[in-house]
Amino acid sequence: AKQRGKASFVRYVDGMGEPVLAHMQLGAELRRAVDEGELRVVYQPIHRLDDNRVIGVEALVRWQHPERGVVSPAEFIPAAERTGLIVPLGRFVLRETCRQAAAWLAEFGPDALQEAGLNVSARQLHDPDFVADVTAALAESGLPCERLVLEVTESAVLRGQQVSRTLSELDRMGIRLALDDFGTGESSLSLLRAFPAAIVKLDKSFVDGIEVDDGRPAAADARQAVARAVIQLARALGLDTVAEGVESAEQAAVLRELGYTLGQGYHLAEPMTAGEVSRVLARQQAM
Ligand code: C2E
Ligand code: CA
Ligand code: CA
Ligand code: CA
Repeated sequence: AKQRGKASFVRYVDGMGEPVLAHMQLGAELRRAVDEGELRVVYQPIHRLDDNRVIGVEALVRWQHPERGVVSPAEFIPAAERTGLIVPLGRFVLRETCRQAAAWLAEFGPDALQEAGLNVSARQLHDPDFVADVTAALAESGLPCERLVLEVTESAVLRGQQVSRTLSELDRMGIRLALDDFGTGESSLSLLRAFPAAIVKLDKSFVDGIEVDDGRPAAADARQAVARAVIQLARALGLDTVAEGVESAEQAAVLRELGYTLGQGYHLAEPMTAGEVSRVLARQQAM
């Protein structure tokens, strides 16, 4: 069997010519990762686009595999969802993020960080213990509920009654919900009516190329039309917005002109360790 690269779990089975995921092995290794503490959380800052100040972070999980090195979530989150391991994995990220965010607030004061966000899968929203897990993580850490943002995708939200009930309950608790990858789903607009979102995160695919001048007047630029429509909609509904995947100063400038106040992306900051975030916050506090 061929291997697609060192950090990959995709195997090619001889003779069949089809890639087959090594479900069993990945599942077992992931179980070990959760149990033995091989998971880490890194944080990508969310910046104000006018003065570049960091106002929040998004927690992103990493797997520090003993032989394969750092494995990206794109590779193991789907398997974690299939096997149900996303529930203990997600609980780890939740507790760790709440603990860390509370520590930053204690060290740098209430103005240091408005919010800490983390990603929640559909499977977690189906877990009857999810609300209790969130309540416990907030109580344990002392993080005020309004500082926590739970990021969910449209497809997760569209998973029926149980999920809707869970989301309404979290909303009632004062936790802010963000619609992640906004605009990539099929029913973004109708969804916003039913879902108690506080934030929409404009998907990276609408930020890619937004700065390109195609020779037409700005108002006619298709690349900017979606980003403009999203911010108008968000304003009308009283939602905050974050533009994702900002990779250049030019993109940040166009987004700012369109009315976006917050952005996240490699141009602003890459995901970093908690220690690195602390240094950023310390520097900001001194300014
Ligand atoms: P996402 O929630 O959309 O997170 C943003 C992803 O885009 C992150 O990838 C981030 O590192 C990357 N990114 C940020 N800025 C830029 C940029 O300027 N350019 C480009 N090309 N990429 C950028 P990452 O960390 O590999 O995570 C991938 C996905 O895995 C996440 O997408 C999220 O759906 C999922 N994920 C990550 N951590 C967790 C977790 O703790 N729980 C769950 N359920 N899913 C997670
Ligand atoms: Ca996200
Ligand atoms: Ca996203
Ligand atoms: Ca995305």
